[in-house]
Amino acid sequence: MQLIMLGAPGAGKGTQAAKLAKKFSIPQISTGDMFRAAVKDGTALGKQAKSFMDAGKLVPDEVTIGIVRERLGKDDCANGFILDGFPRTVEQADALAKILDGLGKKISCVPNIHVPAEDLIERAVGRRICRQCGATYHVKFHPPKVDGVCTDCGGELYQRADDNADTMKNRLSVYEASTRPLIDYYKAAGVYVEIDGTQSIDKVTEDLLNVLTSVQ
Ligand code: ADP
Ligand code: AMP
Repeated sequence: MQLIMLGAPGAGKGTQAAKLAKKFSIPQISTGDMFRAAVKDGTALGKQAKSFMDAGKLVPDEVTIGIVRERLGKDDCANGFILDGFPRTVEQADALAKILDGLGKKISCVPNIHVPAEDLIERAVGRRICRQCGATYHVKFHPPKVDGVCTDCGGELYQRADDNADTMKNRLSVYEASTRPLIDYYKAAGVYVEIDGTQSIDKVTEDLLNVLTSVQ
C-alpha cells in the first residue's frame, strides 16, 4: 500500500502516519523528519535545509526529490510506505509519479486530513516531540502523562524551532500557494479522499482505516 498523507502543517499527518505505519508494518517517510535529522547531525543536507526550514519556506524541489528518490529505493519500501509531508508542490508530485513508475508501483490512496486554518497555529505551537523516539504530543490536545516526558519511552520532549506563530504564518501561506493545488491534482488521479481532521485523534484513525479497507 502506497499512501500520501496530505494536509496543512499541523493537520495531524505525522500523528496518523505513525499509527498507520505501525498497523500495516510499512515505513512512515517524513521529509520534515529527514531534514530535522540532517540538521541535528550537521550534514551537508542539513546545512542546505536549515535556513529554509527556519523561515517556514520549502526546501528546494531538487534537494527534496533527491532524498525521497533514494529513500523509496530502500528494501523496507517493497511492501508499501506512507509519505508524510511529501509531495508539497506539483513538481514534487510529478517527480514522485516518475519515481513510482520506475519502481513499478502506484499510489493507492491520498487521504487529505482537513482542519480549518484557524486551528492550525494552536496545533503547531502546542506540539511537542520526543527527542528519543519521535512520538508527537500536544500540550492541550494530546498531553503526555508527565509534563515534558514521553509517555512511551521516557525521553525528553522538545518544541520544534519552526513551531512558533510567526513561522507558522509563513508555512500556512506556503501551503496555500504551493501545496493546496495537490488536492485537485490527486482528485483528478482518482485517489483523493477527504478526512475530517477536527475529530479526536482516534476517530481520525478510525475514519482512515475505514477508507483504507477498500483500497488495499
Ligand atoms: P502534521 O504532521 O500534519 O504537521 P502532527 O501530526 O504533528 O501534524 O500534529 C500537529 C499537532 O496537533 C501535534 O501536537 C498533535 O499532537 C496534534 N494533533 C494531531 N491530531 C490531532 C487531533 N485530531 N486533534 C487535536 N490535536 C491533534
Ligand atoms: P514538516 O515536518 O512536514 O512540518 O516540515 C518542516 C519543514 O521541512 C518545512 O517547513 C520545510 O521547510 C521542510 N520540508 C519538509 N518537507 C518538505 C517538502 N516536501 N518540500 C520542501 N520542503 C519540505
